[in-house]
This record gives sequence, C-alpha cells and structure tokens, in this order.
Amino acid sequence: MRLSQMLFVTLREDPAEAEIPSHKLLLRAGYIRRIGSGIYAYLPLMWRVLQKVSQIVREEMNAIGAQECLLPQVQPAELWRESGRWDTYTQAEGIMFALKDRQERELGLGPTHEEVITYIARDMIRSYRQLPQTLYQIQTKFRDEIRPRFGLMRGREFIMKDAYSFNANEEDLRQTYHDMHRAYSNILRRSGLAFRAVEADSGAIGGSASQEFMVLAEAGEDEVLYTEDGKYAANVEKAVSLPPDAQQSPFTTYEKLETPGTPTIETMCAFVGCSPTQVVKNVLYQVVFDHGLTLLVIVSIRGDQDVNEVKLQNEITRLAPQYGGKTAIALIVPDATAQQKWAAKPLPLGYIAPDIADDYIRAEKVHPKFLRLVDKTAVDLQNFATGANESGYHVVGANWNEQFRLPENIVDVRKARIGDRAIHNPEQTLQSARGIEIGHIFQLGTKYSVAMGATYTNEQGEEVPLVMGCYGVGVSRLAQAAVEQSYDKDGIIWPVAIAPYHAIVTIPNINNAQQVEVAEKLYQQLNNAGIEALLDDRNERAGVKFKDADLVGIPYRIVTGRSLEAGKVEVVERKSRNSHEIAIDAVVSTLQQWINSAVQG
Ligand code: ATP
Ligand code: MG
Repeated sequence: MRLSQMLFVTLREDPAEAEIPSHKLLLRAGYIRRIGSGIYAYLPLMWRVLQKVSQIVREEMNAIGAQECLLPQVQPAELWRESGRWDTYTQAEGIMFALKDRQERELGLGPTHEEVITYIARDMIRSYRQLPQTLYQIQTKFRDEIRPRFGLMRGREFIMKDAYSFNANEEDLRQTYHDMHRAYSNILRRSGLAFRAVEADSGAIGGSASQEFMVLAEAGEDEVLYTEDGKYAANVEKAVSLPPDAQQSPFTTYEKLETPGTPTIETMCAFVGCSPTQVVKNVLYQVVFDHGLTLLVIVSIRGDQDVNEVKLQNEITRLAPQYGGKTAIALIVPDATAQQKWAAKPLPLGYIAPDIADDYIRAEKVHPKFLRLVDKTAVDLQNFATGANESGYHVVGANWNEQFRLPENIVDVRKARIGDRAIHNPEQTLQSARGIEIGHIFQLGTKYSVAMGATYTNEQGEEVPLVMGCYGVGVSRLAQAAVEQSYDKDGIIWPVAIAPYHAIVTIPNINNAQQVEVAEKLYQQLNNAGIEALLDDRNERAGVKFKDADLVGIPYRIVTGRSLEAGKVEVVERKSRNSHEIAIDAVVSTLQQWINSAVQG
C-alpha cells in the first residue's frame, strides 16, 4: 500500500479522550476512531492487526479439532428465558442490549452464546458416538458495559472468539479444557505477549473450574496474586491464602465500654488498646435476588480482614434457594439513601454487633431477618471486641456462644491480599500485579444443558445431559494489550506476528529519481516475496516520514537514502532501533529471515 493513496492521518498531540498509552497511540497513529461511548471504528491498519490475531486464533483452534461456525448476533428472548438468564442479563447487570421487533417480540444482541449453542446441541447431538464436539466463532459481541473505557479494552461492541465444547462426562471435558489451555497459551505466545494463566471466578456464566489468561500491564483492571515459585496465581476475586495469625487478646472479662467517636476499626483499636486481629467486625450488605426480593446480610469477619464481594455473592447465590431465588444479582454496601428504603430506625453504623436485631428491618419485598454469616477468620477468636449495637459503645472480652450465638453459616469470604502466606507453601508470600484479562476458559458442566434439556444417549442407553465447556478470547482487547505491553516514547512497537505490515519503505526525498526508483523496485519485490510492505511515497519531509513510521510501529523501516551510492539501503529495526546497511539485492532475503525468526520466536 502506498501512503500517498491511503487514508493515513496521524496526530501529533495526545487526544484528550484517551487515558492509557495504548489507547492514545492507537488513536494518534490512525488505527481507530471513536464513534460513540465504547463504540469504535477499526480503520484499515487496525483491521489488518485484527485479522492477524484472528488468524492465529483460528489456526490454534483448528489445531485442537475445534470447528469454525458463525452464530446469530440477534437472539430470541425465549432462549435466554429457558436458561434463566434473560432477567439477569437485561435488568440487574444490564449487560445485554435488548430490543423489541415490530411484532413485539423480544430480542437481545449477543453478549455471549451459551444459549444459542445449547439450542443447536439439543437439536443435533443425540448419541455418545457424536461426542466430543467443539465449535467456535470469531465475531462481534455486544455488551452494554456500565463503564466503557480505555478504547478497545472495554468496548460495548468488540470482537471475541468464543468456543463451546460438548463432552460425554467431566473427565472428557477436562481433556478439552486442557487442550484449550494449551491453545490459549500458544495464541498469546505467538502474538508476542507476556502473560500468566490464573485461577478465576466463574461469575455469572456459571460452572466450576475456570482460568483467565492475563497480560501483565500497569493499566490492567484486574489484580493478580501470585507466588514467586510460580506454583500459584489467581485473580484476587478468587485468590485464597493464609491470614496472619491473630494476636492474644488483652481482655479477660466481658464488658461494655463507652467508646465515643470510634466508628472505624482503627479508631476503636486505638481507644480500647487492642489489635484489629482481636476484633469481630460486622459488615452490612444489601442483596437483590433475581426474583426481586431484597436481603440484608451481616458478615462477621476479623477486624484486620476485608470481605471479598465476589466470594460473598457466590455464597449468597448458594443460599438463594432458601429465599426462593436462583441468584444474587446485585450486592452493595447500602448507603444512607439505600438504608432509608428498609430501615425501621437509624442503624448504629460503626457499632454493629453480630446479633443486631431484626426489628431494624421494615419494608415490603425485603426479607424480615438478617442473613448472618461468619467468616472463618472470626470463628476461633476468643475474648474479642465488637460493636454494642449502640452508637459510641463497644463490648470487649466477648466469646461466641456466650454473649453471641455463632452464626450457622460459616463461610470463606475473606479477601486474600499481598503479603499473605500461600496455602501450598506458607514460606511463600503473595505478590501482586495488574493484569488485562485476555482470555477466559470455563468448565461449565451441565448448567445450560440441564436448564435447556440438551441431552444425549450414553453407552448404557441412558439419556443424560451434555457436559459443557466455554472458552473466550477478546480479539480486539488482545490487539490493544499488545500495544500496552510494547511501545516507547515515539510510538507503537508491534510484535512482528501481528503488525499490520512487516516493513515500510521510506523515500526520504521524492524528488530524487534514484531514491524513488530503488524504493519502487524494493516495494514490488518485498510484496512479491510475501513480505507485507508499505511505501511512504508522500511529498513530505524525511523527518515527518520517520516520525510517522515510528508512531505506527512497523517492525522494519527501509530507507533509500545516502547509502544508495554504495549500492545499499538502510534497514532499521523498530524495536531495537538497530540500523543496518544492506546491499539492495540482499534486502528481501534478509528481511525474510528476520521476519521468520521473529514470528517463530
Ligand atoms: P471483564 O471481567 O473484563 O468484564 P468478562 O469476564 O466479562 O470480562 P468474558 O465473558 O470472560 O469476559 O469474555 C471473554 C473475553 O472477552 C474476555 O476475557 C475479554 O478478553 C473479552 N472481553 C470481555 N468484555 C469485553 C469488552 N467489554 N471489551 C473488549 N473485550 C472484552
Ligand atoms: Mg471473564
């Protein structure tokens, strides 16, 4: 492609809308343009990158026997009602764009495709002889993200590869999952990204085991906890660890103390003279179930620890059937306005005890009793301090089943944090890093096949539900993450395998006939040899052309400049900035060699 004929517009200044380097650079170098909130146009250079990423994904999927297909983006509500996800996806989390057609039929724009694929499997898979099956597609997904940001990182319309497997049993599923794990590692390695596979929460998708593939970068929205020995890595939402040991309690007898102005653990500990590890902190949450019921929850946890809200939401979903619901769809710490809707009288916030009375609750569609949960860290405490259910008062020297009944529901909802000891080896401590979630693989099990009646006949002639897995890669997010991991002050440094072009032939001065002639010839030869080349034949100063080439991040720049007199051109590697004088007729073979080794490396 000739730059003189291309829609090629670069910006010298950072656009105000961009916050992180990769977003700024993709805008400045003319890869993307914002059309609306979380909605972007992929311009010709970007589209080439996305095609390259897609091709790597396609090759790795095909290599493990997955079959490519294309599923509809417009999906009937009935399918989502069958799985029980219509309300959660259109209302509570509201991630699905929903619409009505002219016949008043409800439809959603696909944020993910479990329902559609399970519908197909129900129709087409009958016998164990057809198993296993894995289908995948590379397609635009729609999600009405509450906070679209960072360009392609969190869009409302983005490209995903999603795959779904149907297996005869759990063991067979684990085999497919294992193959996917390998394929995902290959995809990221081949795309030139440094990454880490981590244990992950399964979230609203459901299922058991799941792992995320994280690209480590400061701008990542996820926190990863890991150990130096490489044996443990997990998303903080899922991470487990050993809490620090609790200190000996200084209290020997139970008493109520006046502790004015001590609503936080810190102020209270300073006032009564104890360690936060000797405090039972009682945190109030408000949950809404899928069927609309609100439940108030008191979580008692050791004072130095924090609640992991993802784990808490999972626990409450586990208990949902006791309240007539299926899932906890929203979980918040209720602020003053939220409390007004159900509180019969002002709560003693900051001084709540595990046994706070149920008569604080009064409202319709609100469960009349608190759900009381106790985290494992608080169970073994003796002579602890806690609130007195009265503003300005605490109790000390308390014990479970003496002054306070130990809640029936003992849970692990503690947030693991940096510096905690690891479970697999207490000598290892957790380290923390930021990560961008690029891929997510799940062992789903039978959640969707049971809900939608997708069964097959096994070898014993019994009709049993299909066992499923699902596997997603954010193709557009991956492309931007590559930039986030690889840039310098002058611009993007694309990994060779996913660069929009391999080389750019720059003519310093288009009024110099020899420079033009050699450049034109090289440009032809490179393309003929399968080396994707750009030709900068614009009537611009050499300095402008060099700046643009750096900004756009093409791996190799070939300059038909001064060295022509010696029958050579200058070849500069973008990444190292190393410059080589290479004989004109050796350029193609040299580049071919460099590109091959970079792509395989
Ligand atoms: P996140 O936690 O970042 O919201 P998710 O867990 O909801 O992502 P999945 O449902 O696991 O995402 O989707 C599979 C992959 O699709 C993700 O690993 C990510 O790479 C990509 N992806 C998800 N949401 C977006 C988005 N809004 N914009 C771009 N890519 C996305
Ligand atoms: Mg995910």
